[in-house]
Amino acid sequence: MTRQPDTSAASDADLDLGALYRRLHQFPELSNQEFRTAELLADAIHGCGYETTTAVGGTGVVGVLRNGDGPVVMLRADIDALPVAEKTGLAYASTERATDHTGAEVPVMHACGHDMHAACLVGAARRLARTAREWSGTLLLVFQPAEELACGARNMVEDGLFERFPVPGIVLGQHVGPLPAGMIGYGSGPLMASADSVQIVLHGRGSHGSRPEASIDPVLMAAHVVTRLQGIVSREIAASETAVVTVGRLQAGAKDNIIPDTAELGVNIRTYSEENRAHVKAAVERIVRAEAVASGAEREPEFDWDISAPVLISDPDATAATIAAFTAYFGAGRLFPIPVVTASEDVGVFGAAAGIPTVFWFFGGMNLAGRRMEDLPANHSPFFAPEIEPTLSTGVDALVVAARTWLAPAS
Ligand code: ZN
Ligand code: ZN
Repeated sequence: MTRQPDTSAASDADLDLGALYRRLHQFPELSNQEFRTAELLADAIHGCGYETTTAVGGTGVVGVLRNGDGPVVMLRADIDALPVAEKTGLAYASTERATDHTGAEVPVMHACGHDMHAACLVGAARRLARTAREWSGTLLLVFQPAEELACGARNMVEDGLFERFPVPGIVLGQHVGPLPAGMIGYGSGPLMASADSVQIVLHGRGSHGSRPEASIDPVLMAAHVVTRLQGIVSREIAASETAVVTVGRLQAGAKDNIIPDTAELGVNIRTYSEENRAHVKAAVERIVRAEAVASGAEREPEFDWDISAPVLISDPDATAATIAAFTAYFGAGRLFPIPVVTASEDVGVFGAAAGIPTVFWFFGGMNLAGRRMEDLPANHSPFFAPEIEPTLSTGVDALVVAARTWLAPAS
């Protein structure tokens, strides 16, 4: 549903952003179930002059502010929460429960800080609308669902994000993390790993456990696959580079004296370049197929590649320009470089789909309070609780400064 801009309301500068954040935090919703969240966010940006569309790629929200000639700049925030039982003890802690995508009833918590991302984007959207006389161009706000399932960005693209709305020249986004509040961590080039998951079914032939000669044993096949897969990183990836292949799920059989028909594996892959990503994915299929042949399997293995997020590359030139603007605004003392992160983000899907650069950075949310950085609760922890300030204002400022770096000055 699209609502035309509400031009009368550009004045309501009195939205309490802290209250919006606390509300998002207290009432989190799982991936692809962000209905109340989407409504809340759509209302918050519609009230300050954005053409607002809901239900883009499921529960995504898009806001457009056309403000004269100039570049189209996309600002992205993810909005989903996680199946985690909150233990922060905060007055606005979540006690929500929901049914997840597998049908299980689970607790729900904003344990990755996506509530902070959404609130920061609302704050930036409102300030940019209020100061529209100072710049020229078009703002494209994207509130993306289902980042935690690595499918929300793809769903929005497939639902016509870049056909139905102005096509941006750059994607800007941020993630809150276990860094001191008020600080900005940045990197250039590969920033976060790609993530791919494949569910594999190995087909054997079952028989009585006492008669292995009548079987094609999928358990032995699976055991060889698990061992052999660990040769990919150690033997096929250069020592100067890195990748991860993890078999996180291995299931076969129900009883010790029955050889089952099938065995199943769930494999997760992380890499830092698209070359290595393609190589490792192909190597997994090659090894699984070869082990099936080696066992004399009569049926080909099955592969279901169900999670896919590309390497997140923060475009080096665009990052340099954005970080220069951050340094001028925040001062060099509030910025520091960080190493690549083994976690993944699907924000890179937007830039890859539109063929445009992405700039992504991290901002701190934690009060050190005498603790060491490595002791701060990290994302996905039940204790992950950003300090509302200065985290919120830092995140708003960063989005505004970054957007203004790429929008044209008012003519
Ligand atoms: Zn997360
Ligand atoms: Zn996250």
